[in-house]
Amino acid sequence: MDEIKILLVEDEKKIASALKTGMEEQGFYVMVAYDGSMGEKFFTNYDFDLVILDINLPDINGYALSRMIRQRKQNIPILMLTALGTVEDKIEGFEAGADDYLVKPFAFKELIARIKSLLRRTAAGLPTAHILRVADLEINLDSKEVTRAGNRISLTAKEFQLLEYLVKNKNRVVSRADIAGKVWDIGFDTGTNVIDVYINFLRKKVDKDYPVKLIQTQIGMGYILKEE
Ligand code: CA
Repeated sequence: MDEIKILLVEDEKKIASALKTGMEEQGFYVMVAYDGSMGEKFFTNYDFDLVILDINLPDINGYALSRMIRQRKQNIPILMLTALGTVEDKIEGFEAGADDYLVKPFAFKELIARIKSLLRRTAAGLPTAHILRVADLEINLDSKEVTRAGNRISLTAKEFQLLEYLVKNKNRVVSRADIAGKVWDIGFDTGTNVIDVYINFLRKKVDKDYPVKLIQTQIGMGYILKEE
Protein backbone atom coordinates (compact mmCIF):
# COMPACT_ATOMS: atom_id res chain seq x y z
CA MET A 1 0.00 0.00 0.00
CA ASP A 2 1.19 3.50 -0.79
CA GLU A 3 2.07 5.81 2.03
CA ILE A 4 -1.05 7.16 3.71
CA LYS A 5 -1.12 10.97 3.65
CA ILE A 6 -2.89 12.77 6.44
CA LEU A 7 -3.75 16.45 6.69
CA LEU A 8 -3.85 17.66 10.28
CA VAL A 9 -5.39 21.08 10.92
CA GLU A 10 -4.61 22.14 14.48
CA ASP A 11 -3.67 25.60 15.76
CA GLU A 12 -2.10 24.50 19.03
CA LYS A 13 1.47 23.96 17.93
CA LYS A 14 2.49 21.65 20.78
CA ILE A 15 -0.46 19.32 20.19
CA ALA A 16 0.05 19.43 16.43
CA SER A 17 3.70 18.57 16.73
CA ALA A 18 3.09 15.72 19.21
CA LEU A 19 0.36 14.23 17.01
CA LYS A 20 2.46 14.57 13.87
CA THR A 21 5.43 12.82 15.48
CA GLY A 22 3.23 10.05 16.86
CA MET A 23 1.46 9.45 13.55
CA GLU A 24 4.74 9.45 11.64
CA GLU A 25 5.99 6.75 14.00
CA GLN A 26 2.99 4.72 12.82
CA GLY A 27 4.18 5.13 9.24
CA PHE A 28 1.80 7.88 8.13
CA TYR A 29 2.92 10.95 6.20
CA VAL A 30 1.54 14.01 7.96
CA MET A 31 1.20 17.65 6.88
CA VAL A 32 0.17 20.18 9.51
CA ALA A 33 -1.81 23.35 8.85
CA TYR A 34 -2.06 25.80 11.75
CA ASP A 35 -5.27 27.51 10.72
CA GLY A 36 -8.30 26.92 8.53
CA SER A 37 -7.17 28.82 5.46
CA MET A 38 -3.80 27.05 5.49
CA GLY A 39 -5.75 23.79 5.79
CA GLU A 40 -7.89 24.72 2.81
CA LYS A 41 -4.81 25.63 0.79
CA PHE A 42 -3.04 22.34 1.55
CA PHE A 43 -6.22 20.40 0.80
CA THR A 44 -6.49 22.13 -2.58
CA ASN A 45 -2.85 21.61 -3.53
CA TYR A 46 -2.10 18.11 -2.26
CA ASP A 47 -3.79 14.76 -2.29
CA PHE A 48 -4.69 13.31 1.13
CA ASP A 49 -6.18 10.02 2.30
CA LEU A 50 -7.61 11.33 5.54
CA VAL A 51 -8.18 14.69 7.24
CA ILE A 52 -8.04 15.45 10.96
CA LEU A 53 -9.65 18.76 11.90
CA ASP A 54 -9.59 20.70 15.12
CA ILE A 55 -12.87 22.61 15.49
CA ASN A 56 -11.69 25.80 17.21
CA LEU A 57 -9.33 27.41 14.74
CA PRO A 58 -8.40 31.09 14.51
CA ASP A 59 -10.09 31.75 11.17
CA ILE A 60 -12.20 29.22 9.28
CA ASN A 61 -13.43 26.78 11.92
CA GLY A 62 -13.41 23.02 11.63
CA TYR A 63 -17.11 22.73 10.79
CA ALA A 64 -16.80 25.15 7.85
CA LEU A 65 -13.65 23.45 6.64
CA SER A 66 -15.32 20.07 6.87
CA ARG A 67 -18.25 21.28 4.73
CA MET A 68 -15.85 22.67 2.16
CA ILE A 69 -13.90 19.41 2.02
CA ARG A 70 -17.08 17.33 1.70
CA GLN A 71 -18.18 19.41 -1.27
CA ARG A 72 -14.94 18.75 -3.06
CA LYS A 73 -14.24 15.15 -2.10
CA GLN A 74 -17.20 13.08 -1.06
CA ASN A 75 -15.42 10.07 0.33
CA ILE A 76 -12.35 11.26 2.17
CA PRO A 77 -12.56 10.30 5.86
CA ILE A 78 -12.76 13.28 8.22
CA LEU A 79 -12.00 12.95 11.90
CA MET A 80 -12.76 15.90 14.17
CA LEU A 81 -10.88 16.83 17.31
CA THR A 82 -12.31 19.12 19.89
CA ALA A 83 -12.40 20.16 23.48
CA LEU A 84 -16.18 20.45 23.11
CA GLY A 85 -17.94 17.22 23.86
CA THR A 86 -21.64 17.94 24.05
CA VAL A 87 -24.13 16.02 21.96
CA GLU A 88 -24.94 19.22 20.01
CA ASP A 89 -21.27 19.67 19.11
CA LYS A 90 -21.08 16.10 17.90
CA ILE A 91 -24.25 16.45 15.85
CA GLU A 92 -22.97 19.66 14.31
CA GLY A 93 -19.73 17.85 13.45
CA PHE A 94 -21.52 14.94 11.81
CA GLU A 95 -23.81 17.32 9.93
CA ALA A 96 -20.75 19.14 8.65
CA GLY A 97 -19.58 15.84 7.19
CA ALA A 98 -17.29 14.42 9.86
CA ASP A 99 -17.08 10.63 9.96
CA ASP A 100 -15.82 10.44 13.49
CA TYR A 101 -15.17 12.60 16.49
CA LEU A 102 -12.60 12.62 19.31
CA VAL A 103 -12.94 14.74 22.42
CA LYS A 104 -9.73 16.18 23.88
CA PRO A 105 -7.93 15.01 25.86
CA PHE A 106 -7.82 11.61 24.19
CA ALA A 107 -5.41 8.72 24.35
CA PHE A 108 -3.07 8.67 21.37
CA LYS A 109 -3.81 4.95 20.94
CA GLU A 110 -7.44 5.81 20.44
CA LEU A 111 -6.60 8.32 17.71
CA ILE A 112 -4.59 5.67 15.87
CA ALA A 113 -7.40 3.12 16.26
CA ARG A 114 -9.93 5.60 14.81
CA ILE A 115 -7.62 6.48 11.91
CA LYS A 116 -7.15 2.81 11.05
CA SER A 117 -10.85 2.13 11.30
CA LEU A 118 -11.66 5.05 8.97
CA LEU A 119 -9.01 3.95 6.48
CA ARG A 120 -10.28 0.36 6.51
CA ARG A 121 -13.76 1.56 5.58
CA THR A 122 -12.42 3.55 2.67
CA ALA A 123 -10.11 0.74 1.52
CA ALA A 124 -13.00 -1.70 1.60
CA GLY A 125 -14.91 0.65 -0.70
CA LEU A 126 -17.35 1.35 2.09
CA PRO A 127 -17.31 5.12 2.41
CA THR A 128 -20.94 4.91 3.37
CA ALA A 129 -20.45 1.96 5.71
CA HIS A 130 -23.46 1.30 7.83
CA ILE A 131 -22.28 2.54 11.17
CA LEU A 132 -24.56 2.90 14.15
CA ARG A 133 -23.30 5.06 16.97
CA VAL A 134 -24.45 5.72 20.49
CA ALA A 135 -22.09 7.83 22.58
CA ASP A 136 -18.69 6.14 22.11
CA LEU A 137 -20.21 2.81 21.07
CA GLU A 138 -19.90 2.03 17.39
CA ILE A 139 -21.48 -0.86 15.48
CA ASN A 140 -20.47 -1.58 11.93
CA LEU A 141 -23.36 -3.44 10.32
CA ASP A 142 -21.20 -4.47 7.33
CA SER A 143 -18.17 -5.87 9.11
CA LYS A 144 -20.08 -6.72 12.32
CA GLU A 145 -17.34 -5.02 14.30
CA VAL A 146 -18.28 -3.43 17.58
CA THR A 147 -16.07 -0.93 19.41
CA ARG A 148 -16.44 1.16 22.50
CA ALA A 149 -14.10 4.15 22.92
CA GLY A 150 -12.10 2.59 20.09
CA ASN A 151 -11.69 -0.80 21.83
CA ARG A 152 -12.84 -3.89 19.97
CA ILE A 153 -15.63 -5.84 21.64
CA SER A 154 -16.14 -9.37 20.53
CA LEU A 155 -19.76 -10.55 20.53
CA THR A 156 -21.51 -13.77 19.63
CA ALA A 157 -24.01 -13.59 16.75
CA LYS A 158 -26.97 -13.44 19.15
CA GLU A 159 -25.37 -10.77 21.32
CA PHE A 160 -24.69 -8.74 18.18
CA GLN A 161 -28.31 -9.00 17.04
CA LEU A 162 -29.55 -7.99 20.47
CA LEU A 163 -27.22 -5.00 20.62
CA GLU A 164 -28.15 -3.97 17.08
CA TYR A 165 -31.82 -4.10 18.01
CA LEU A 166 -31.28 -2.01 21.15
CA VAL A 167 -29.18 0.55 19.29
CA LYS A 168 -31.68 0.84 16.44
CA ASN A 169 -34.29 1.57 19.09
CA LYS A 170 -32.08 3.80 21.18
CA ASN A 171 -33.73 6.10 23.72
CA ARG A 172 -36.88 3.96 23.50
CA VAL A 173 -38.01 1.31 25.97
CA VAL A 174 -38.22 -2.14 24.40
CA SER A 175 -40.12 -4.86 26.20
CA ARG A 176 -38.92 -8.43 26.63
CA ALA A 177 -41.73 -9.44 24.25
CA ASP A 178 -40.39 -7.02 21.58
CA ILE A 179 -36.92 -8.48 21.98
CA ALA A 180 -38.16 -12.08 21.96
CA GLY A 181 -40.08 -11.46 18.76
CA LYS A 182 -37.45 -9.44 16.92
CA VAL A 183 -34.19 -11.01 18.05
CA TRP A 184 -35.18 -14.59 18.86
CA ASP A 185 -38.07 -14.80 16.45
CA ILE A 186 -40.20 -16.45 19.10
CA GLY A 187 -43.33 -15.51 20.96
CA PHE A 188 -42.72 -14.43 24.50
CA ASP A 189 -42.36 -17.38 26.84
CA THR A 190 -42.62 -16.31 30.44
CA GLY A 191 -40.87 -19.48 31.51
CA THR A 192 -37.53 -18.40 30.07
CA ASN A 193 -35.10 -15.77 31.26
CA VAL A 194 -32.95 -16.03 28.14
CA ILE A 195 -33.33 -12.32 27.37
CA ASP A 196 -32.17 -11.23 30.82
CA VAL A 197 -29.26 -13.61 30.55
CA TYR A 198 -28.22 -12.13 27.21
CA ILE A 199 -28.68 -8.57 28.47
CA ASN A 200 -26.26 -9.45 31.25
CA PHE A 201 -23.76 -10.87 28.75
CA LEU A 202 -23.98 -7.62 26.80
CA ARG A 203 -23.60 -5.45 29.87
CA LYS A 204 -20.43 -7.31 30.83
CA LYS A 205 -18.95 -6.68 27.41
CA VAL A 206 -20.32 -3.26 26.51
CA ASP A 207 -20.84 -1.42 29.81
CA LYS A 208 -18.90 -2.99 32.66
CA ASP A 209 -15.54 -1.35 31.95
CA TYR A 210 -16.93 2.09 31.10
CA PRO A 211 -18.20 4.85 33.38
CA VAL A 212 -21.33 5.52 31.31
CA LYS A 213 -23.77 2.59 31.36
CA LEU A 214 -25.74 2.54 28.11
CA ILE A 215 -28.04 -0.41 28.77
CA GLN A 216 -30.58 0.36 31.45
CA THR A 217 -33.42 -1.61 32.99
CA GLN A 218 -36.87 -0.02 33.12
CA ILE A 219 -38.49 -1.97 35.92
CA GLY A 220 -41.69 -3.64 34.84
CA MET A 221 -41.26 -2.48 31.22
CA GLY A 222 -38.07 -3.80 29.70
CA TYR A 223 -34.81 -2.27 28.62
CA ILE A 224 -33.60 0.95 27.11
CA LEU A 225 -30.30 1.86 25.53
CA LYS A 226 -29.66 5.51 26.29
CA GLU A 227 -27.07 8.05 25.31
CA GLU A 228 -27.01 9.76 28.71
CA1 CA B 1 -7.82 24.85 18.56
